[in-house]
Amino acid sequence: MTLIVGLTGGIGSGKSTVGQYFADLGIDIIDTDVIARMLTEPGGLAMNSIKNSFGETMIAADGSLNREKMRDLIFSDSNYKLALENILHPLILAETLQQVRKALSPYIIIAIPLLFETNDYDKIIQRSLVVDCEEEQQILRTMKRSKLHENQVRAIVATQIPRTSRLQKADDIIVNNLDIAYLKAQVAQLHKKYLSLSL
Ligand code: ADP
Repeated sequence: MTLIVGLTGGIGSGKSTVGQYFADLGIDIIDTDVIARMLTEPGGLAMNSIKNSFGETMIAADGSLNREKMRDLIFSDSNYKLALENILHPLILAETLQQVRKALSPYIIIAIPLLFETNDYDKIIQRSLVVDCEEEQQILRTMKRSKLHENQVRAIVATQIPRTSRLQKADDIIVNNLDIAYLKAQVAQLHKKYLSLSL
């Protein structure tokens, strides 16, 4: 069976950047965030259920999910968050499995921001890889990338598993608190390790 690695880490820790470097090495990356976005684009598979459960106000003029409104709603009440997750998670999982079946590289990486917050992927992945950095760095990088305010980023971080718990659960860790060269070197090292594990 092909080795499947679950890539996770807090928001802004560097998951997408790490995923891109593995992709540059020829590894198939399945990104559950990209899948979630695809499902909520105009005509996306989740849009009918979202419209039925949340009403037209959550649908933007082009038929996609109104992300900003939805973000405000789910932060105001965790029942709404749960309702949205109940729609999205099974669809994300199904699409992930389809992409796993199509993947051809010696091992596969699935980027799952909330890997340790759900048990959806326990039976699919064999190892977890955590990208870690200092919380202050994580917050600054996310503010810059996503044009969010510090309190918005801190609110998102507060909904994620605490850093220490995440690190305890990790099989492998990438430390992303220095420059990109340091990050790339760790990816290259792990690539060798995963290739040898997938023989
Ligand atoms: P995630 O996918 O975990 O949310 P990203 O990979 O998008 O995180 O990284 C967050 C931001 O930080 C991006 O703008 C990325 O270019 C930048 N970044 C990531 N790692 C580094 C690094 N080592 N040095 C400087 N900037 C970085």
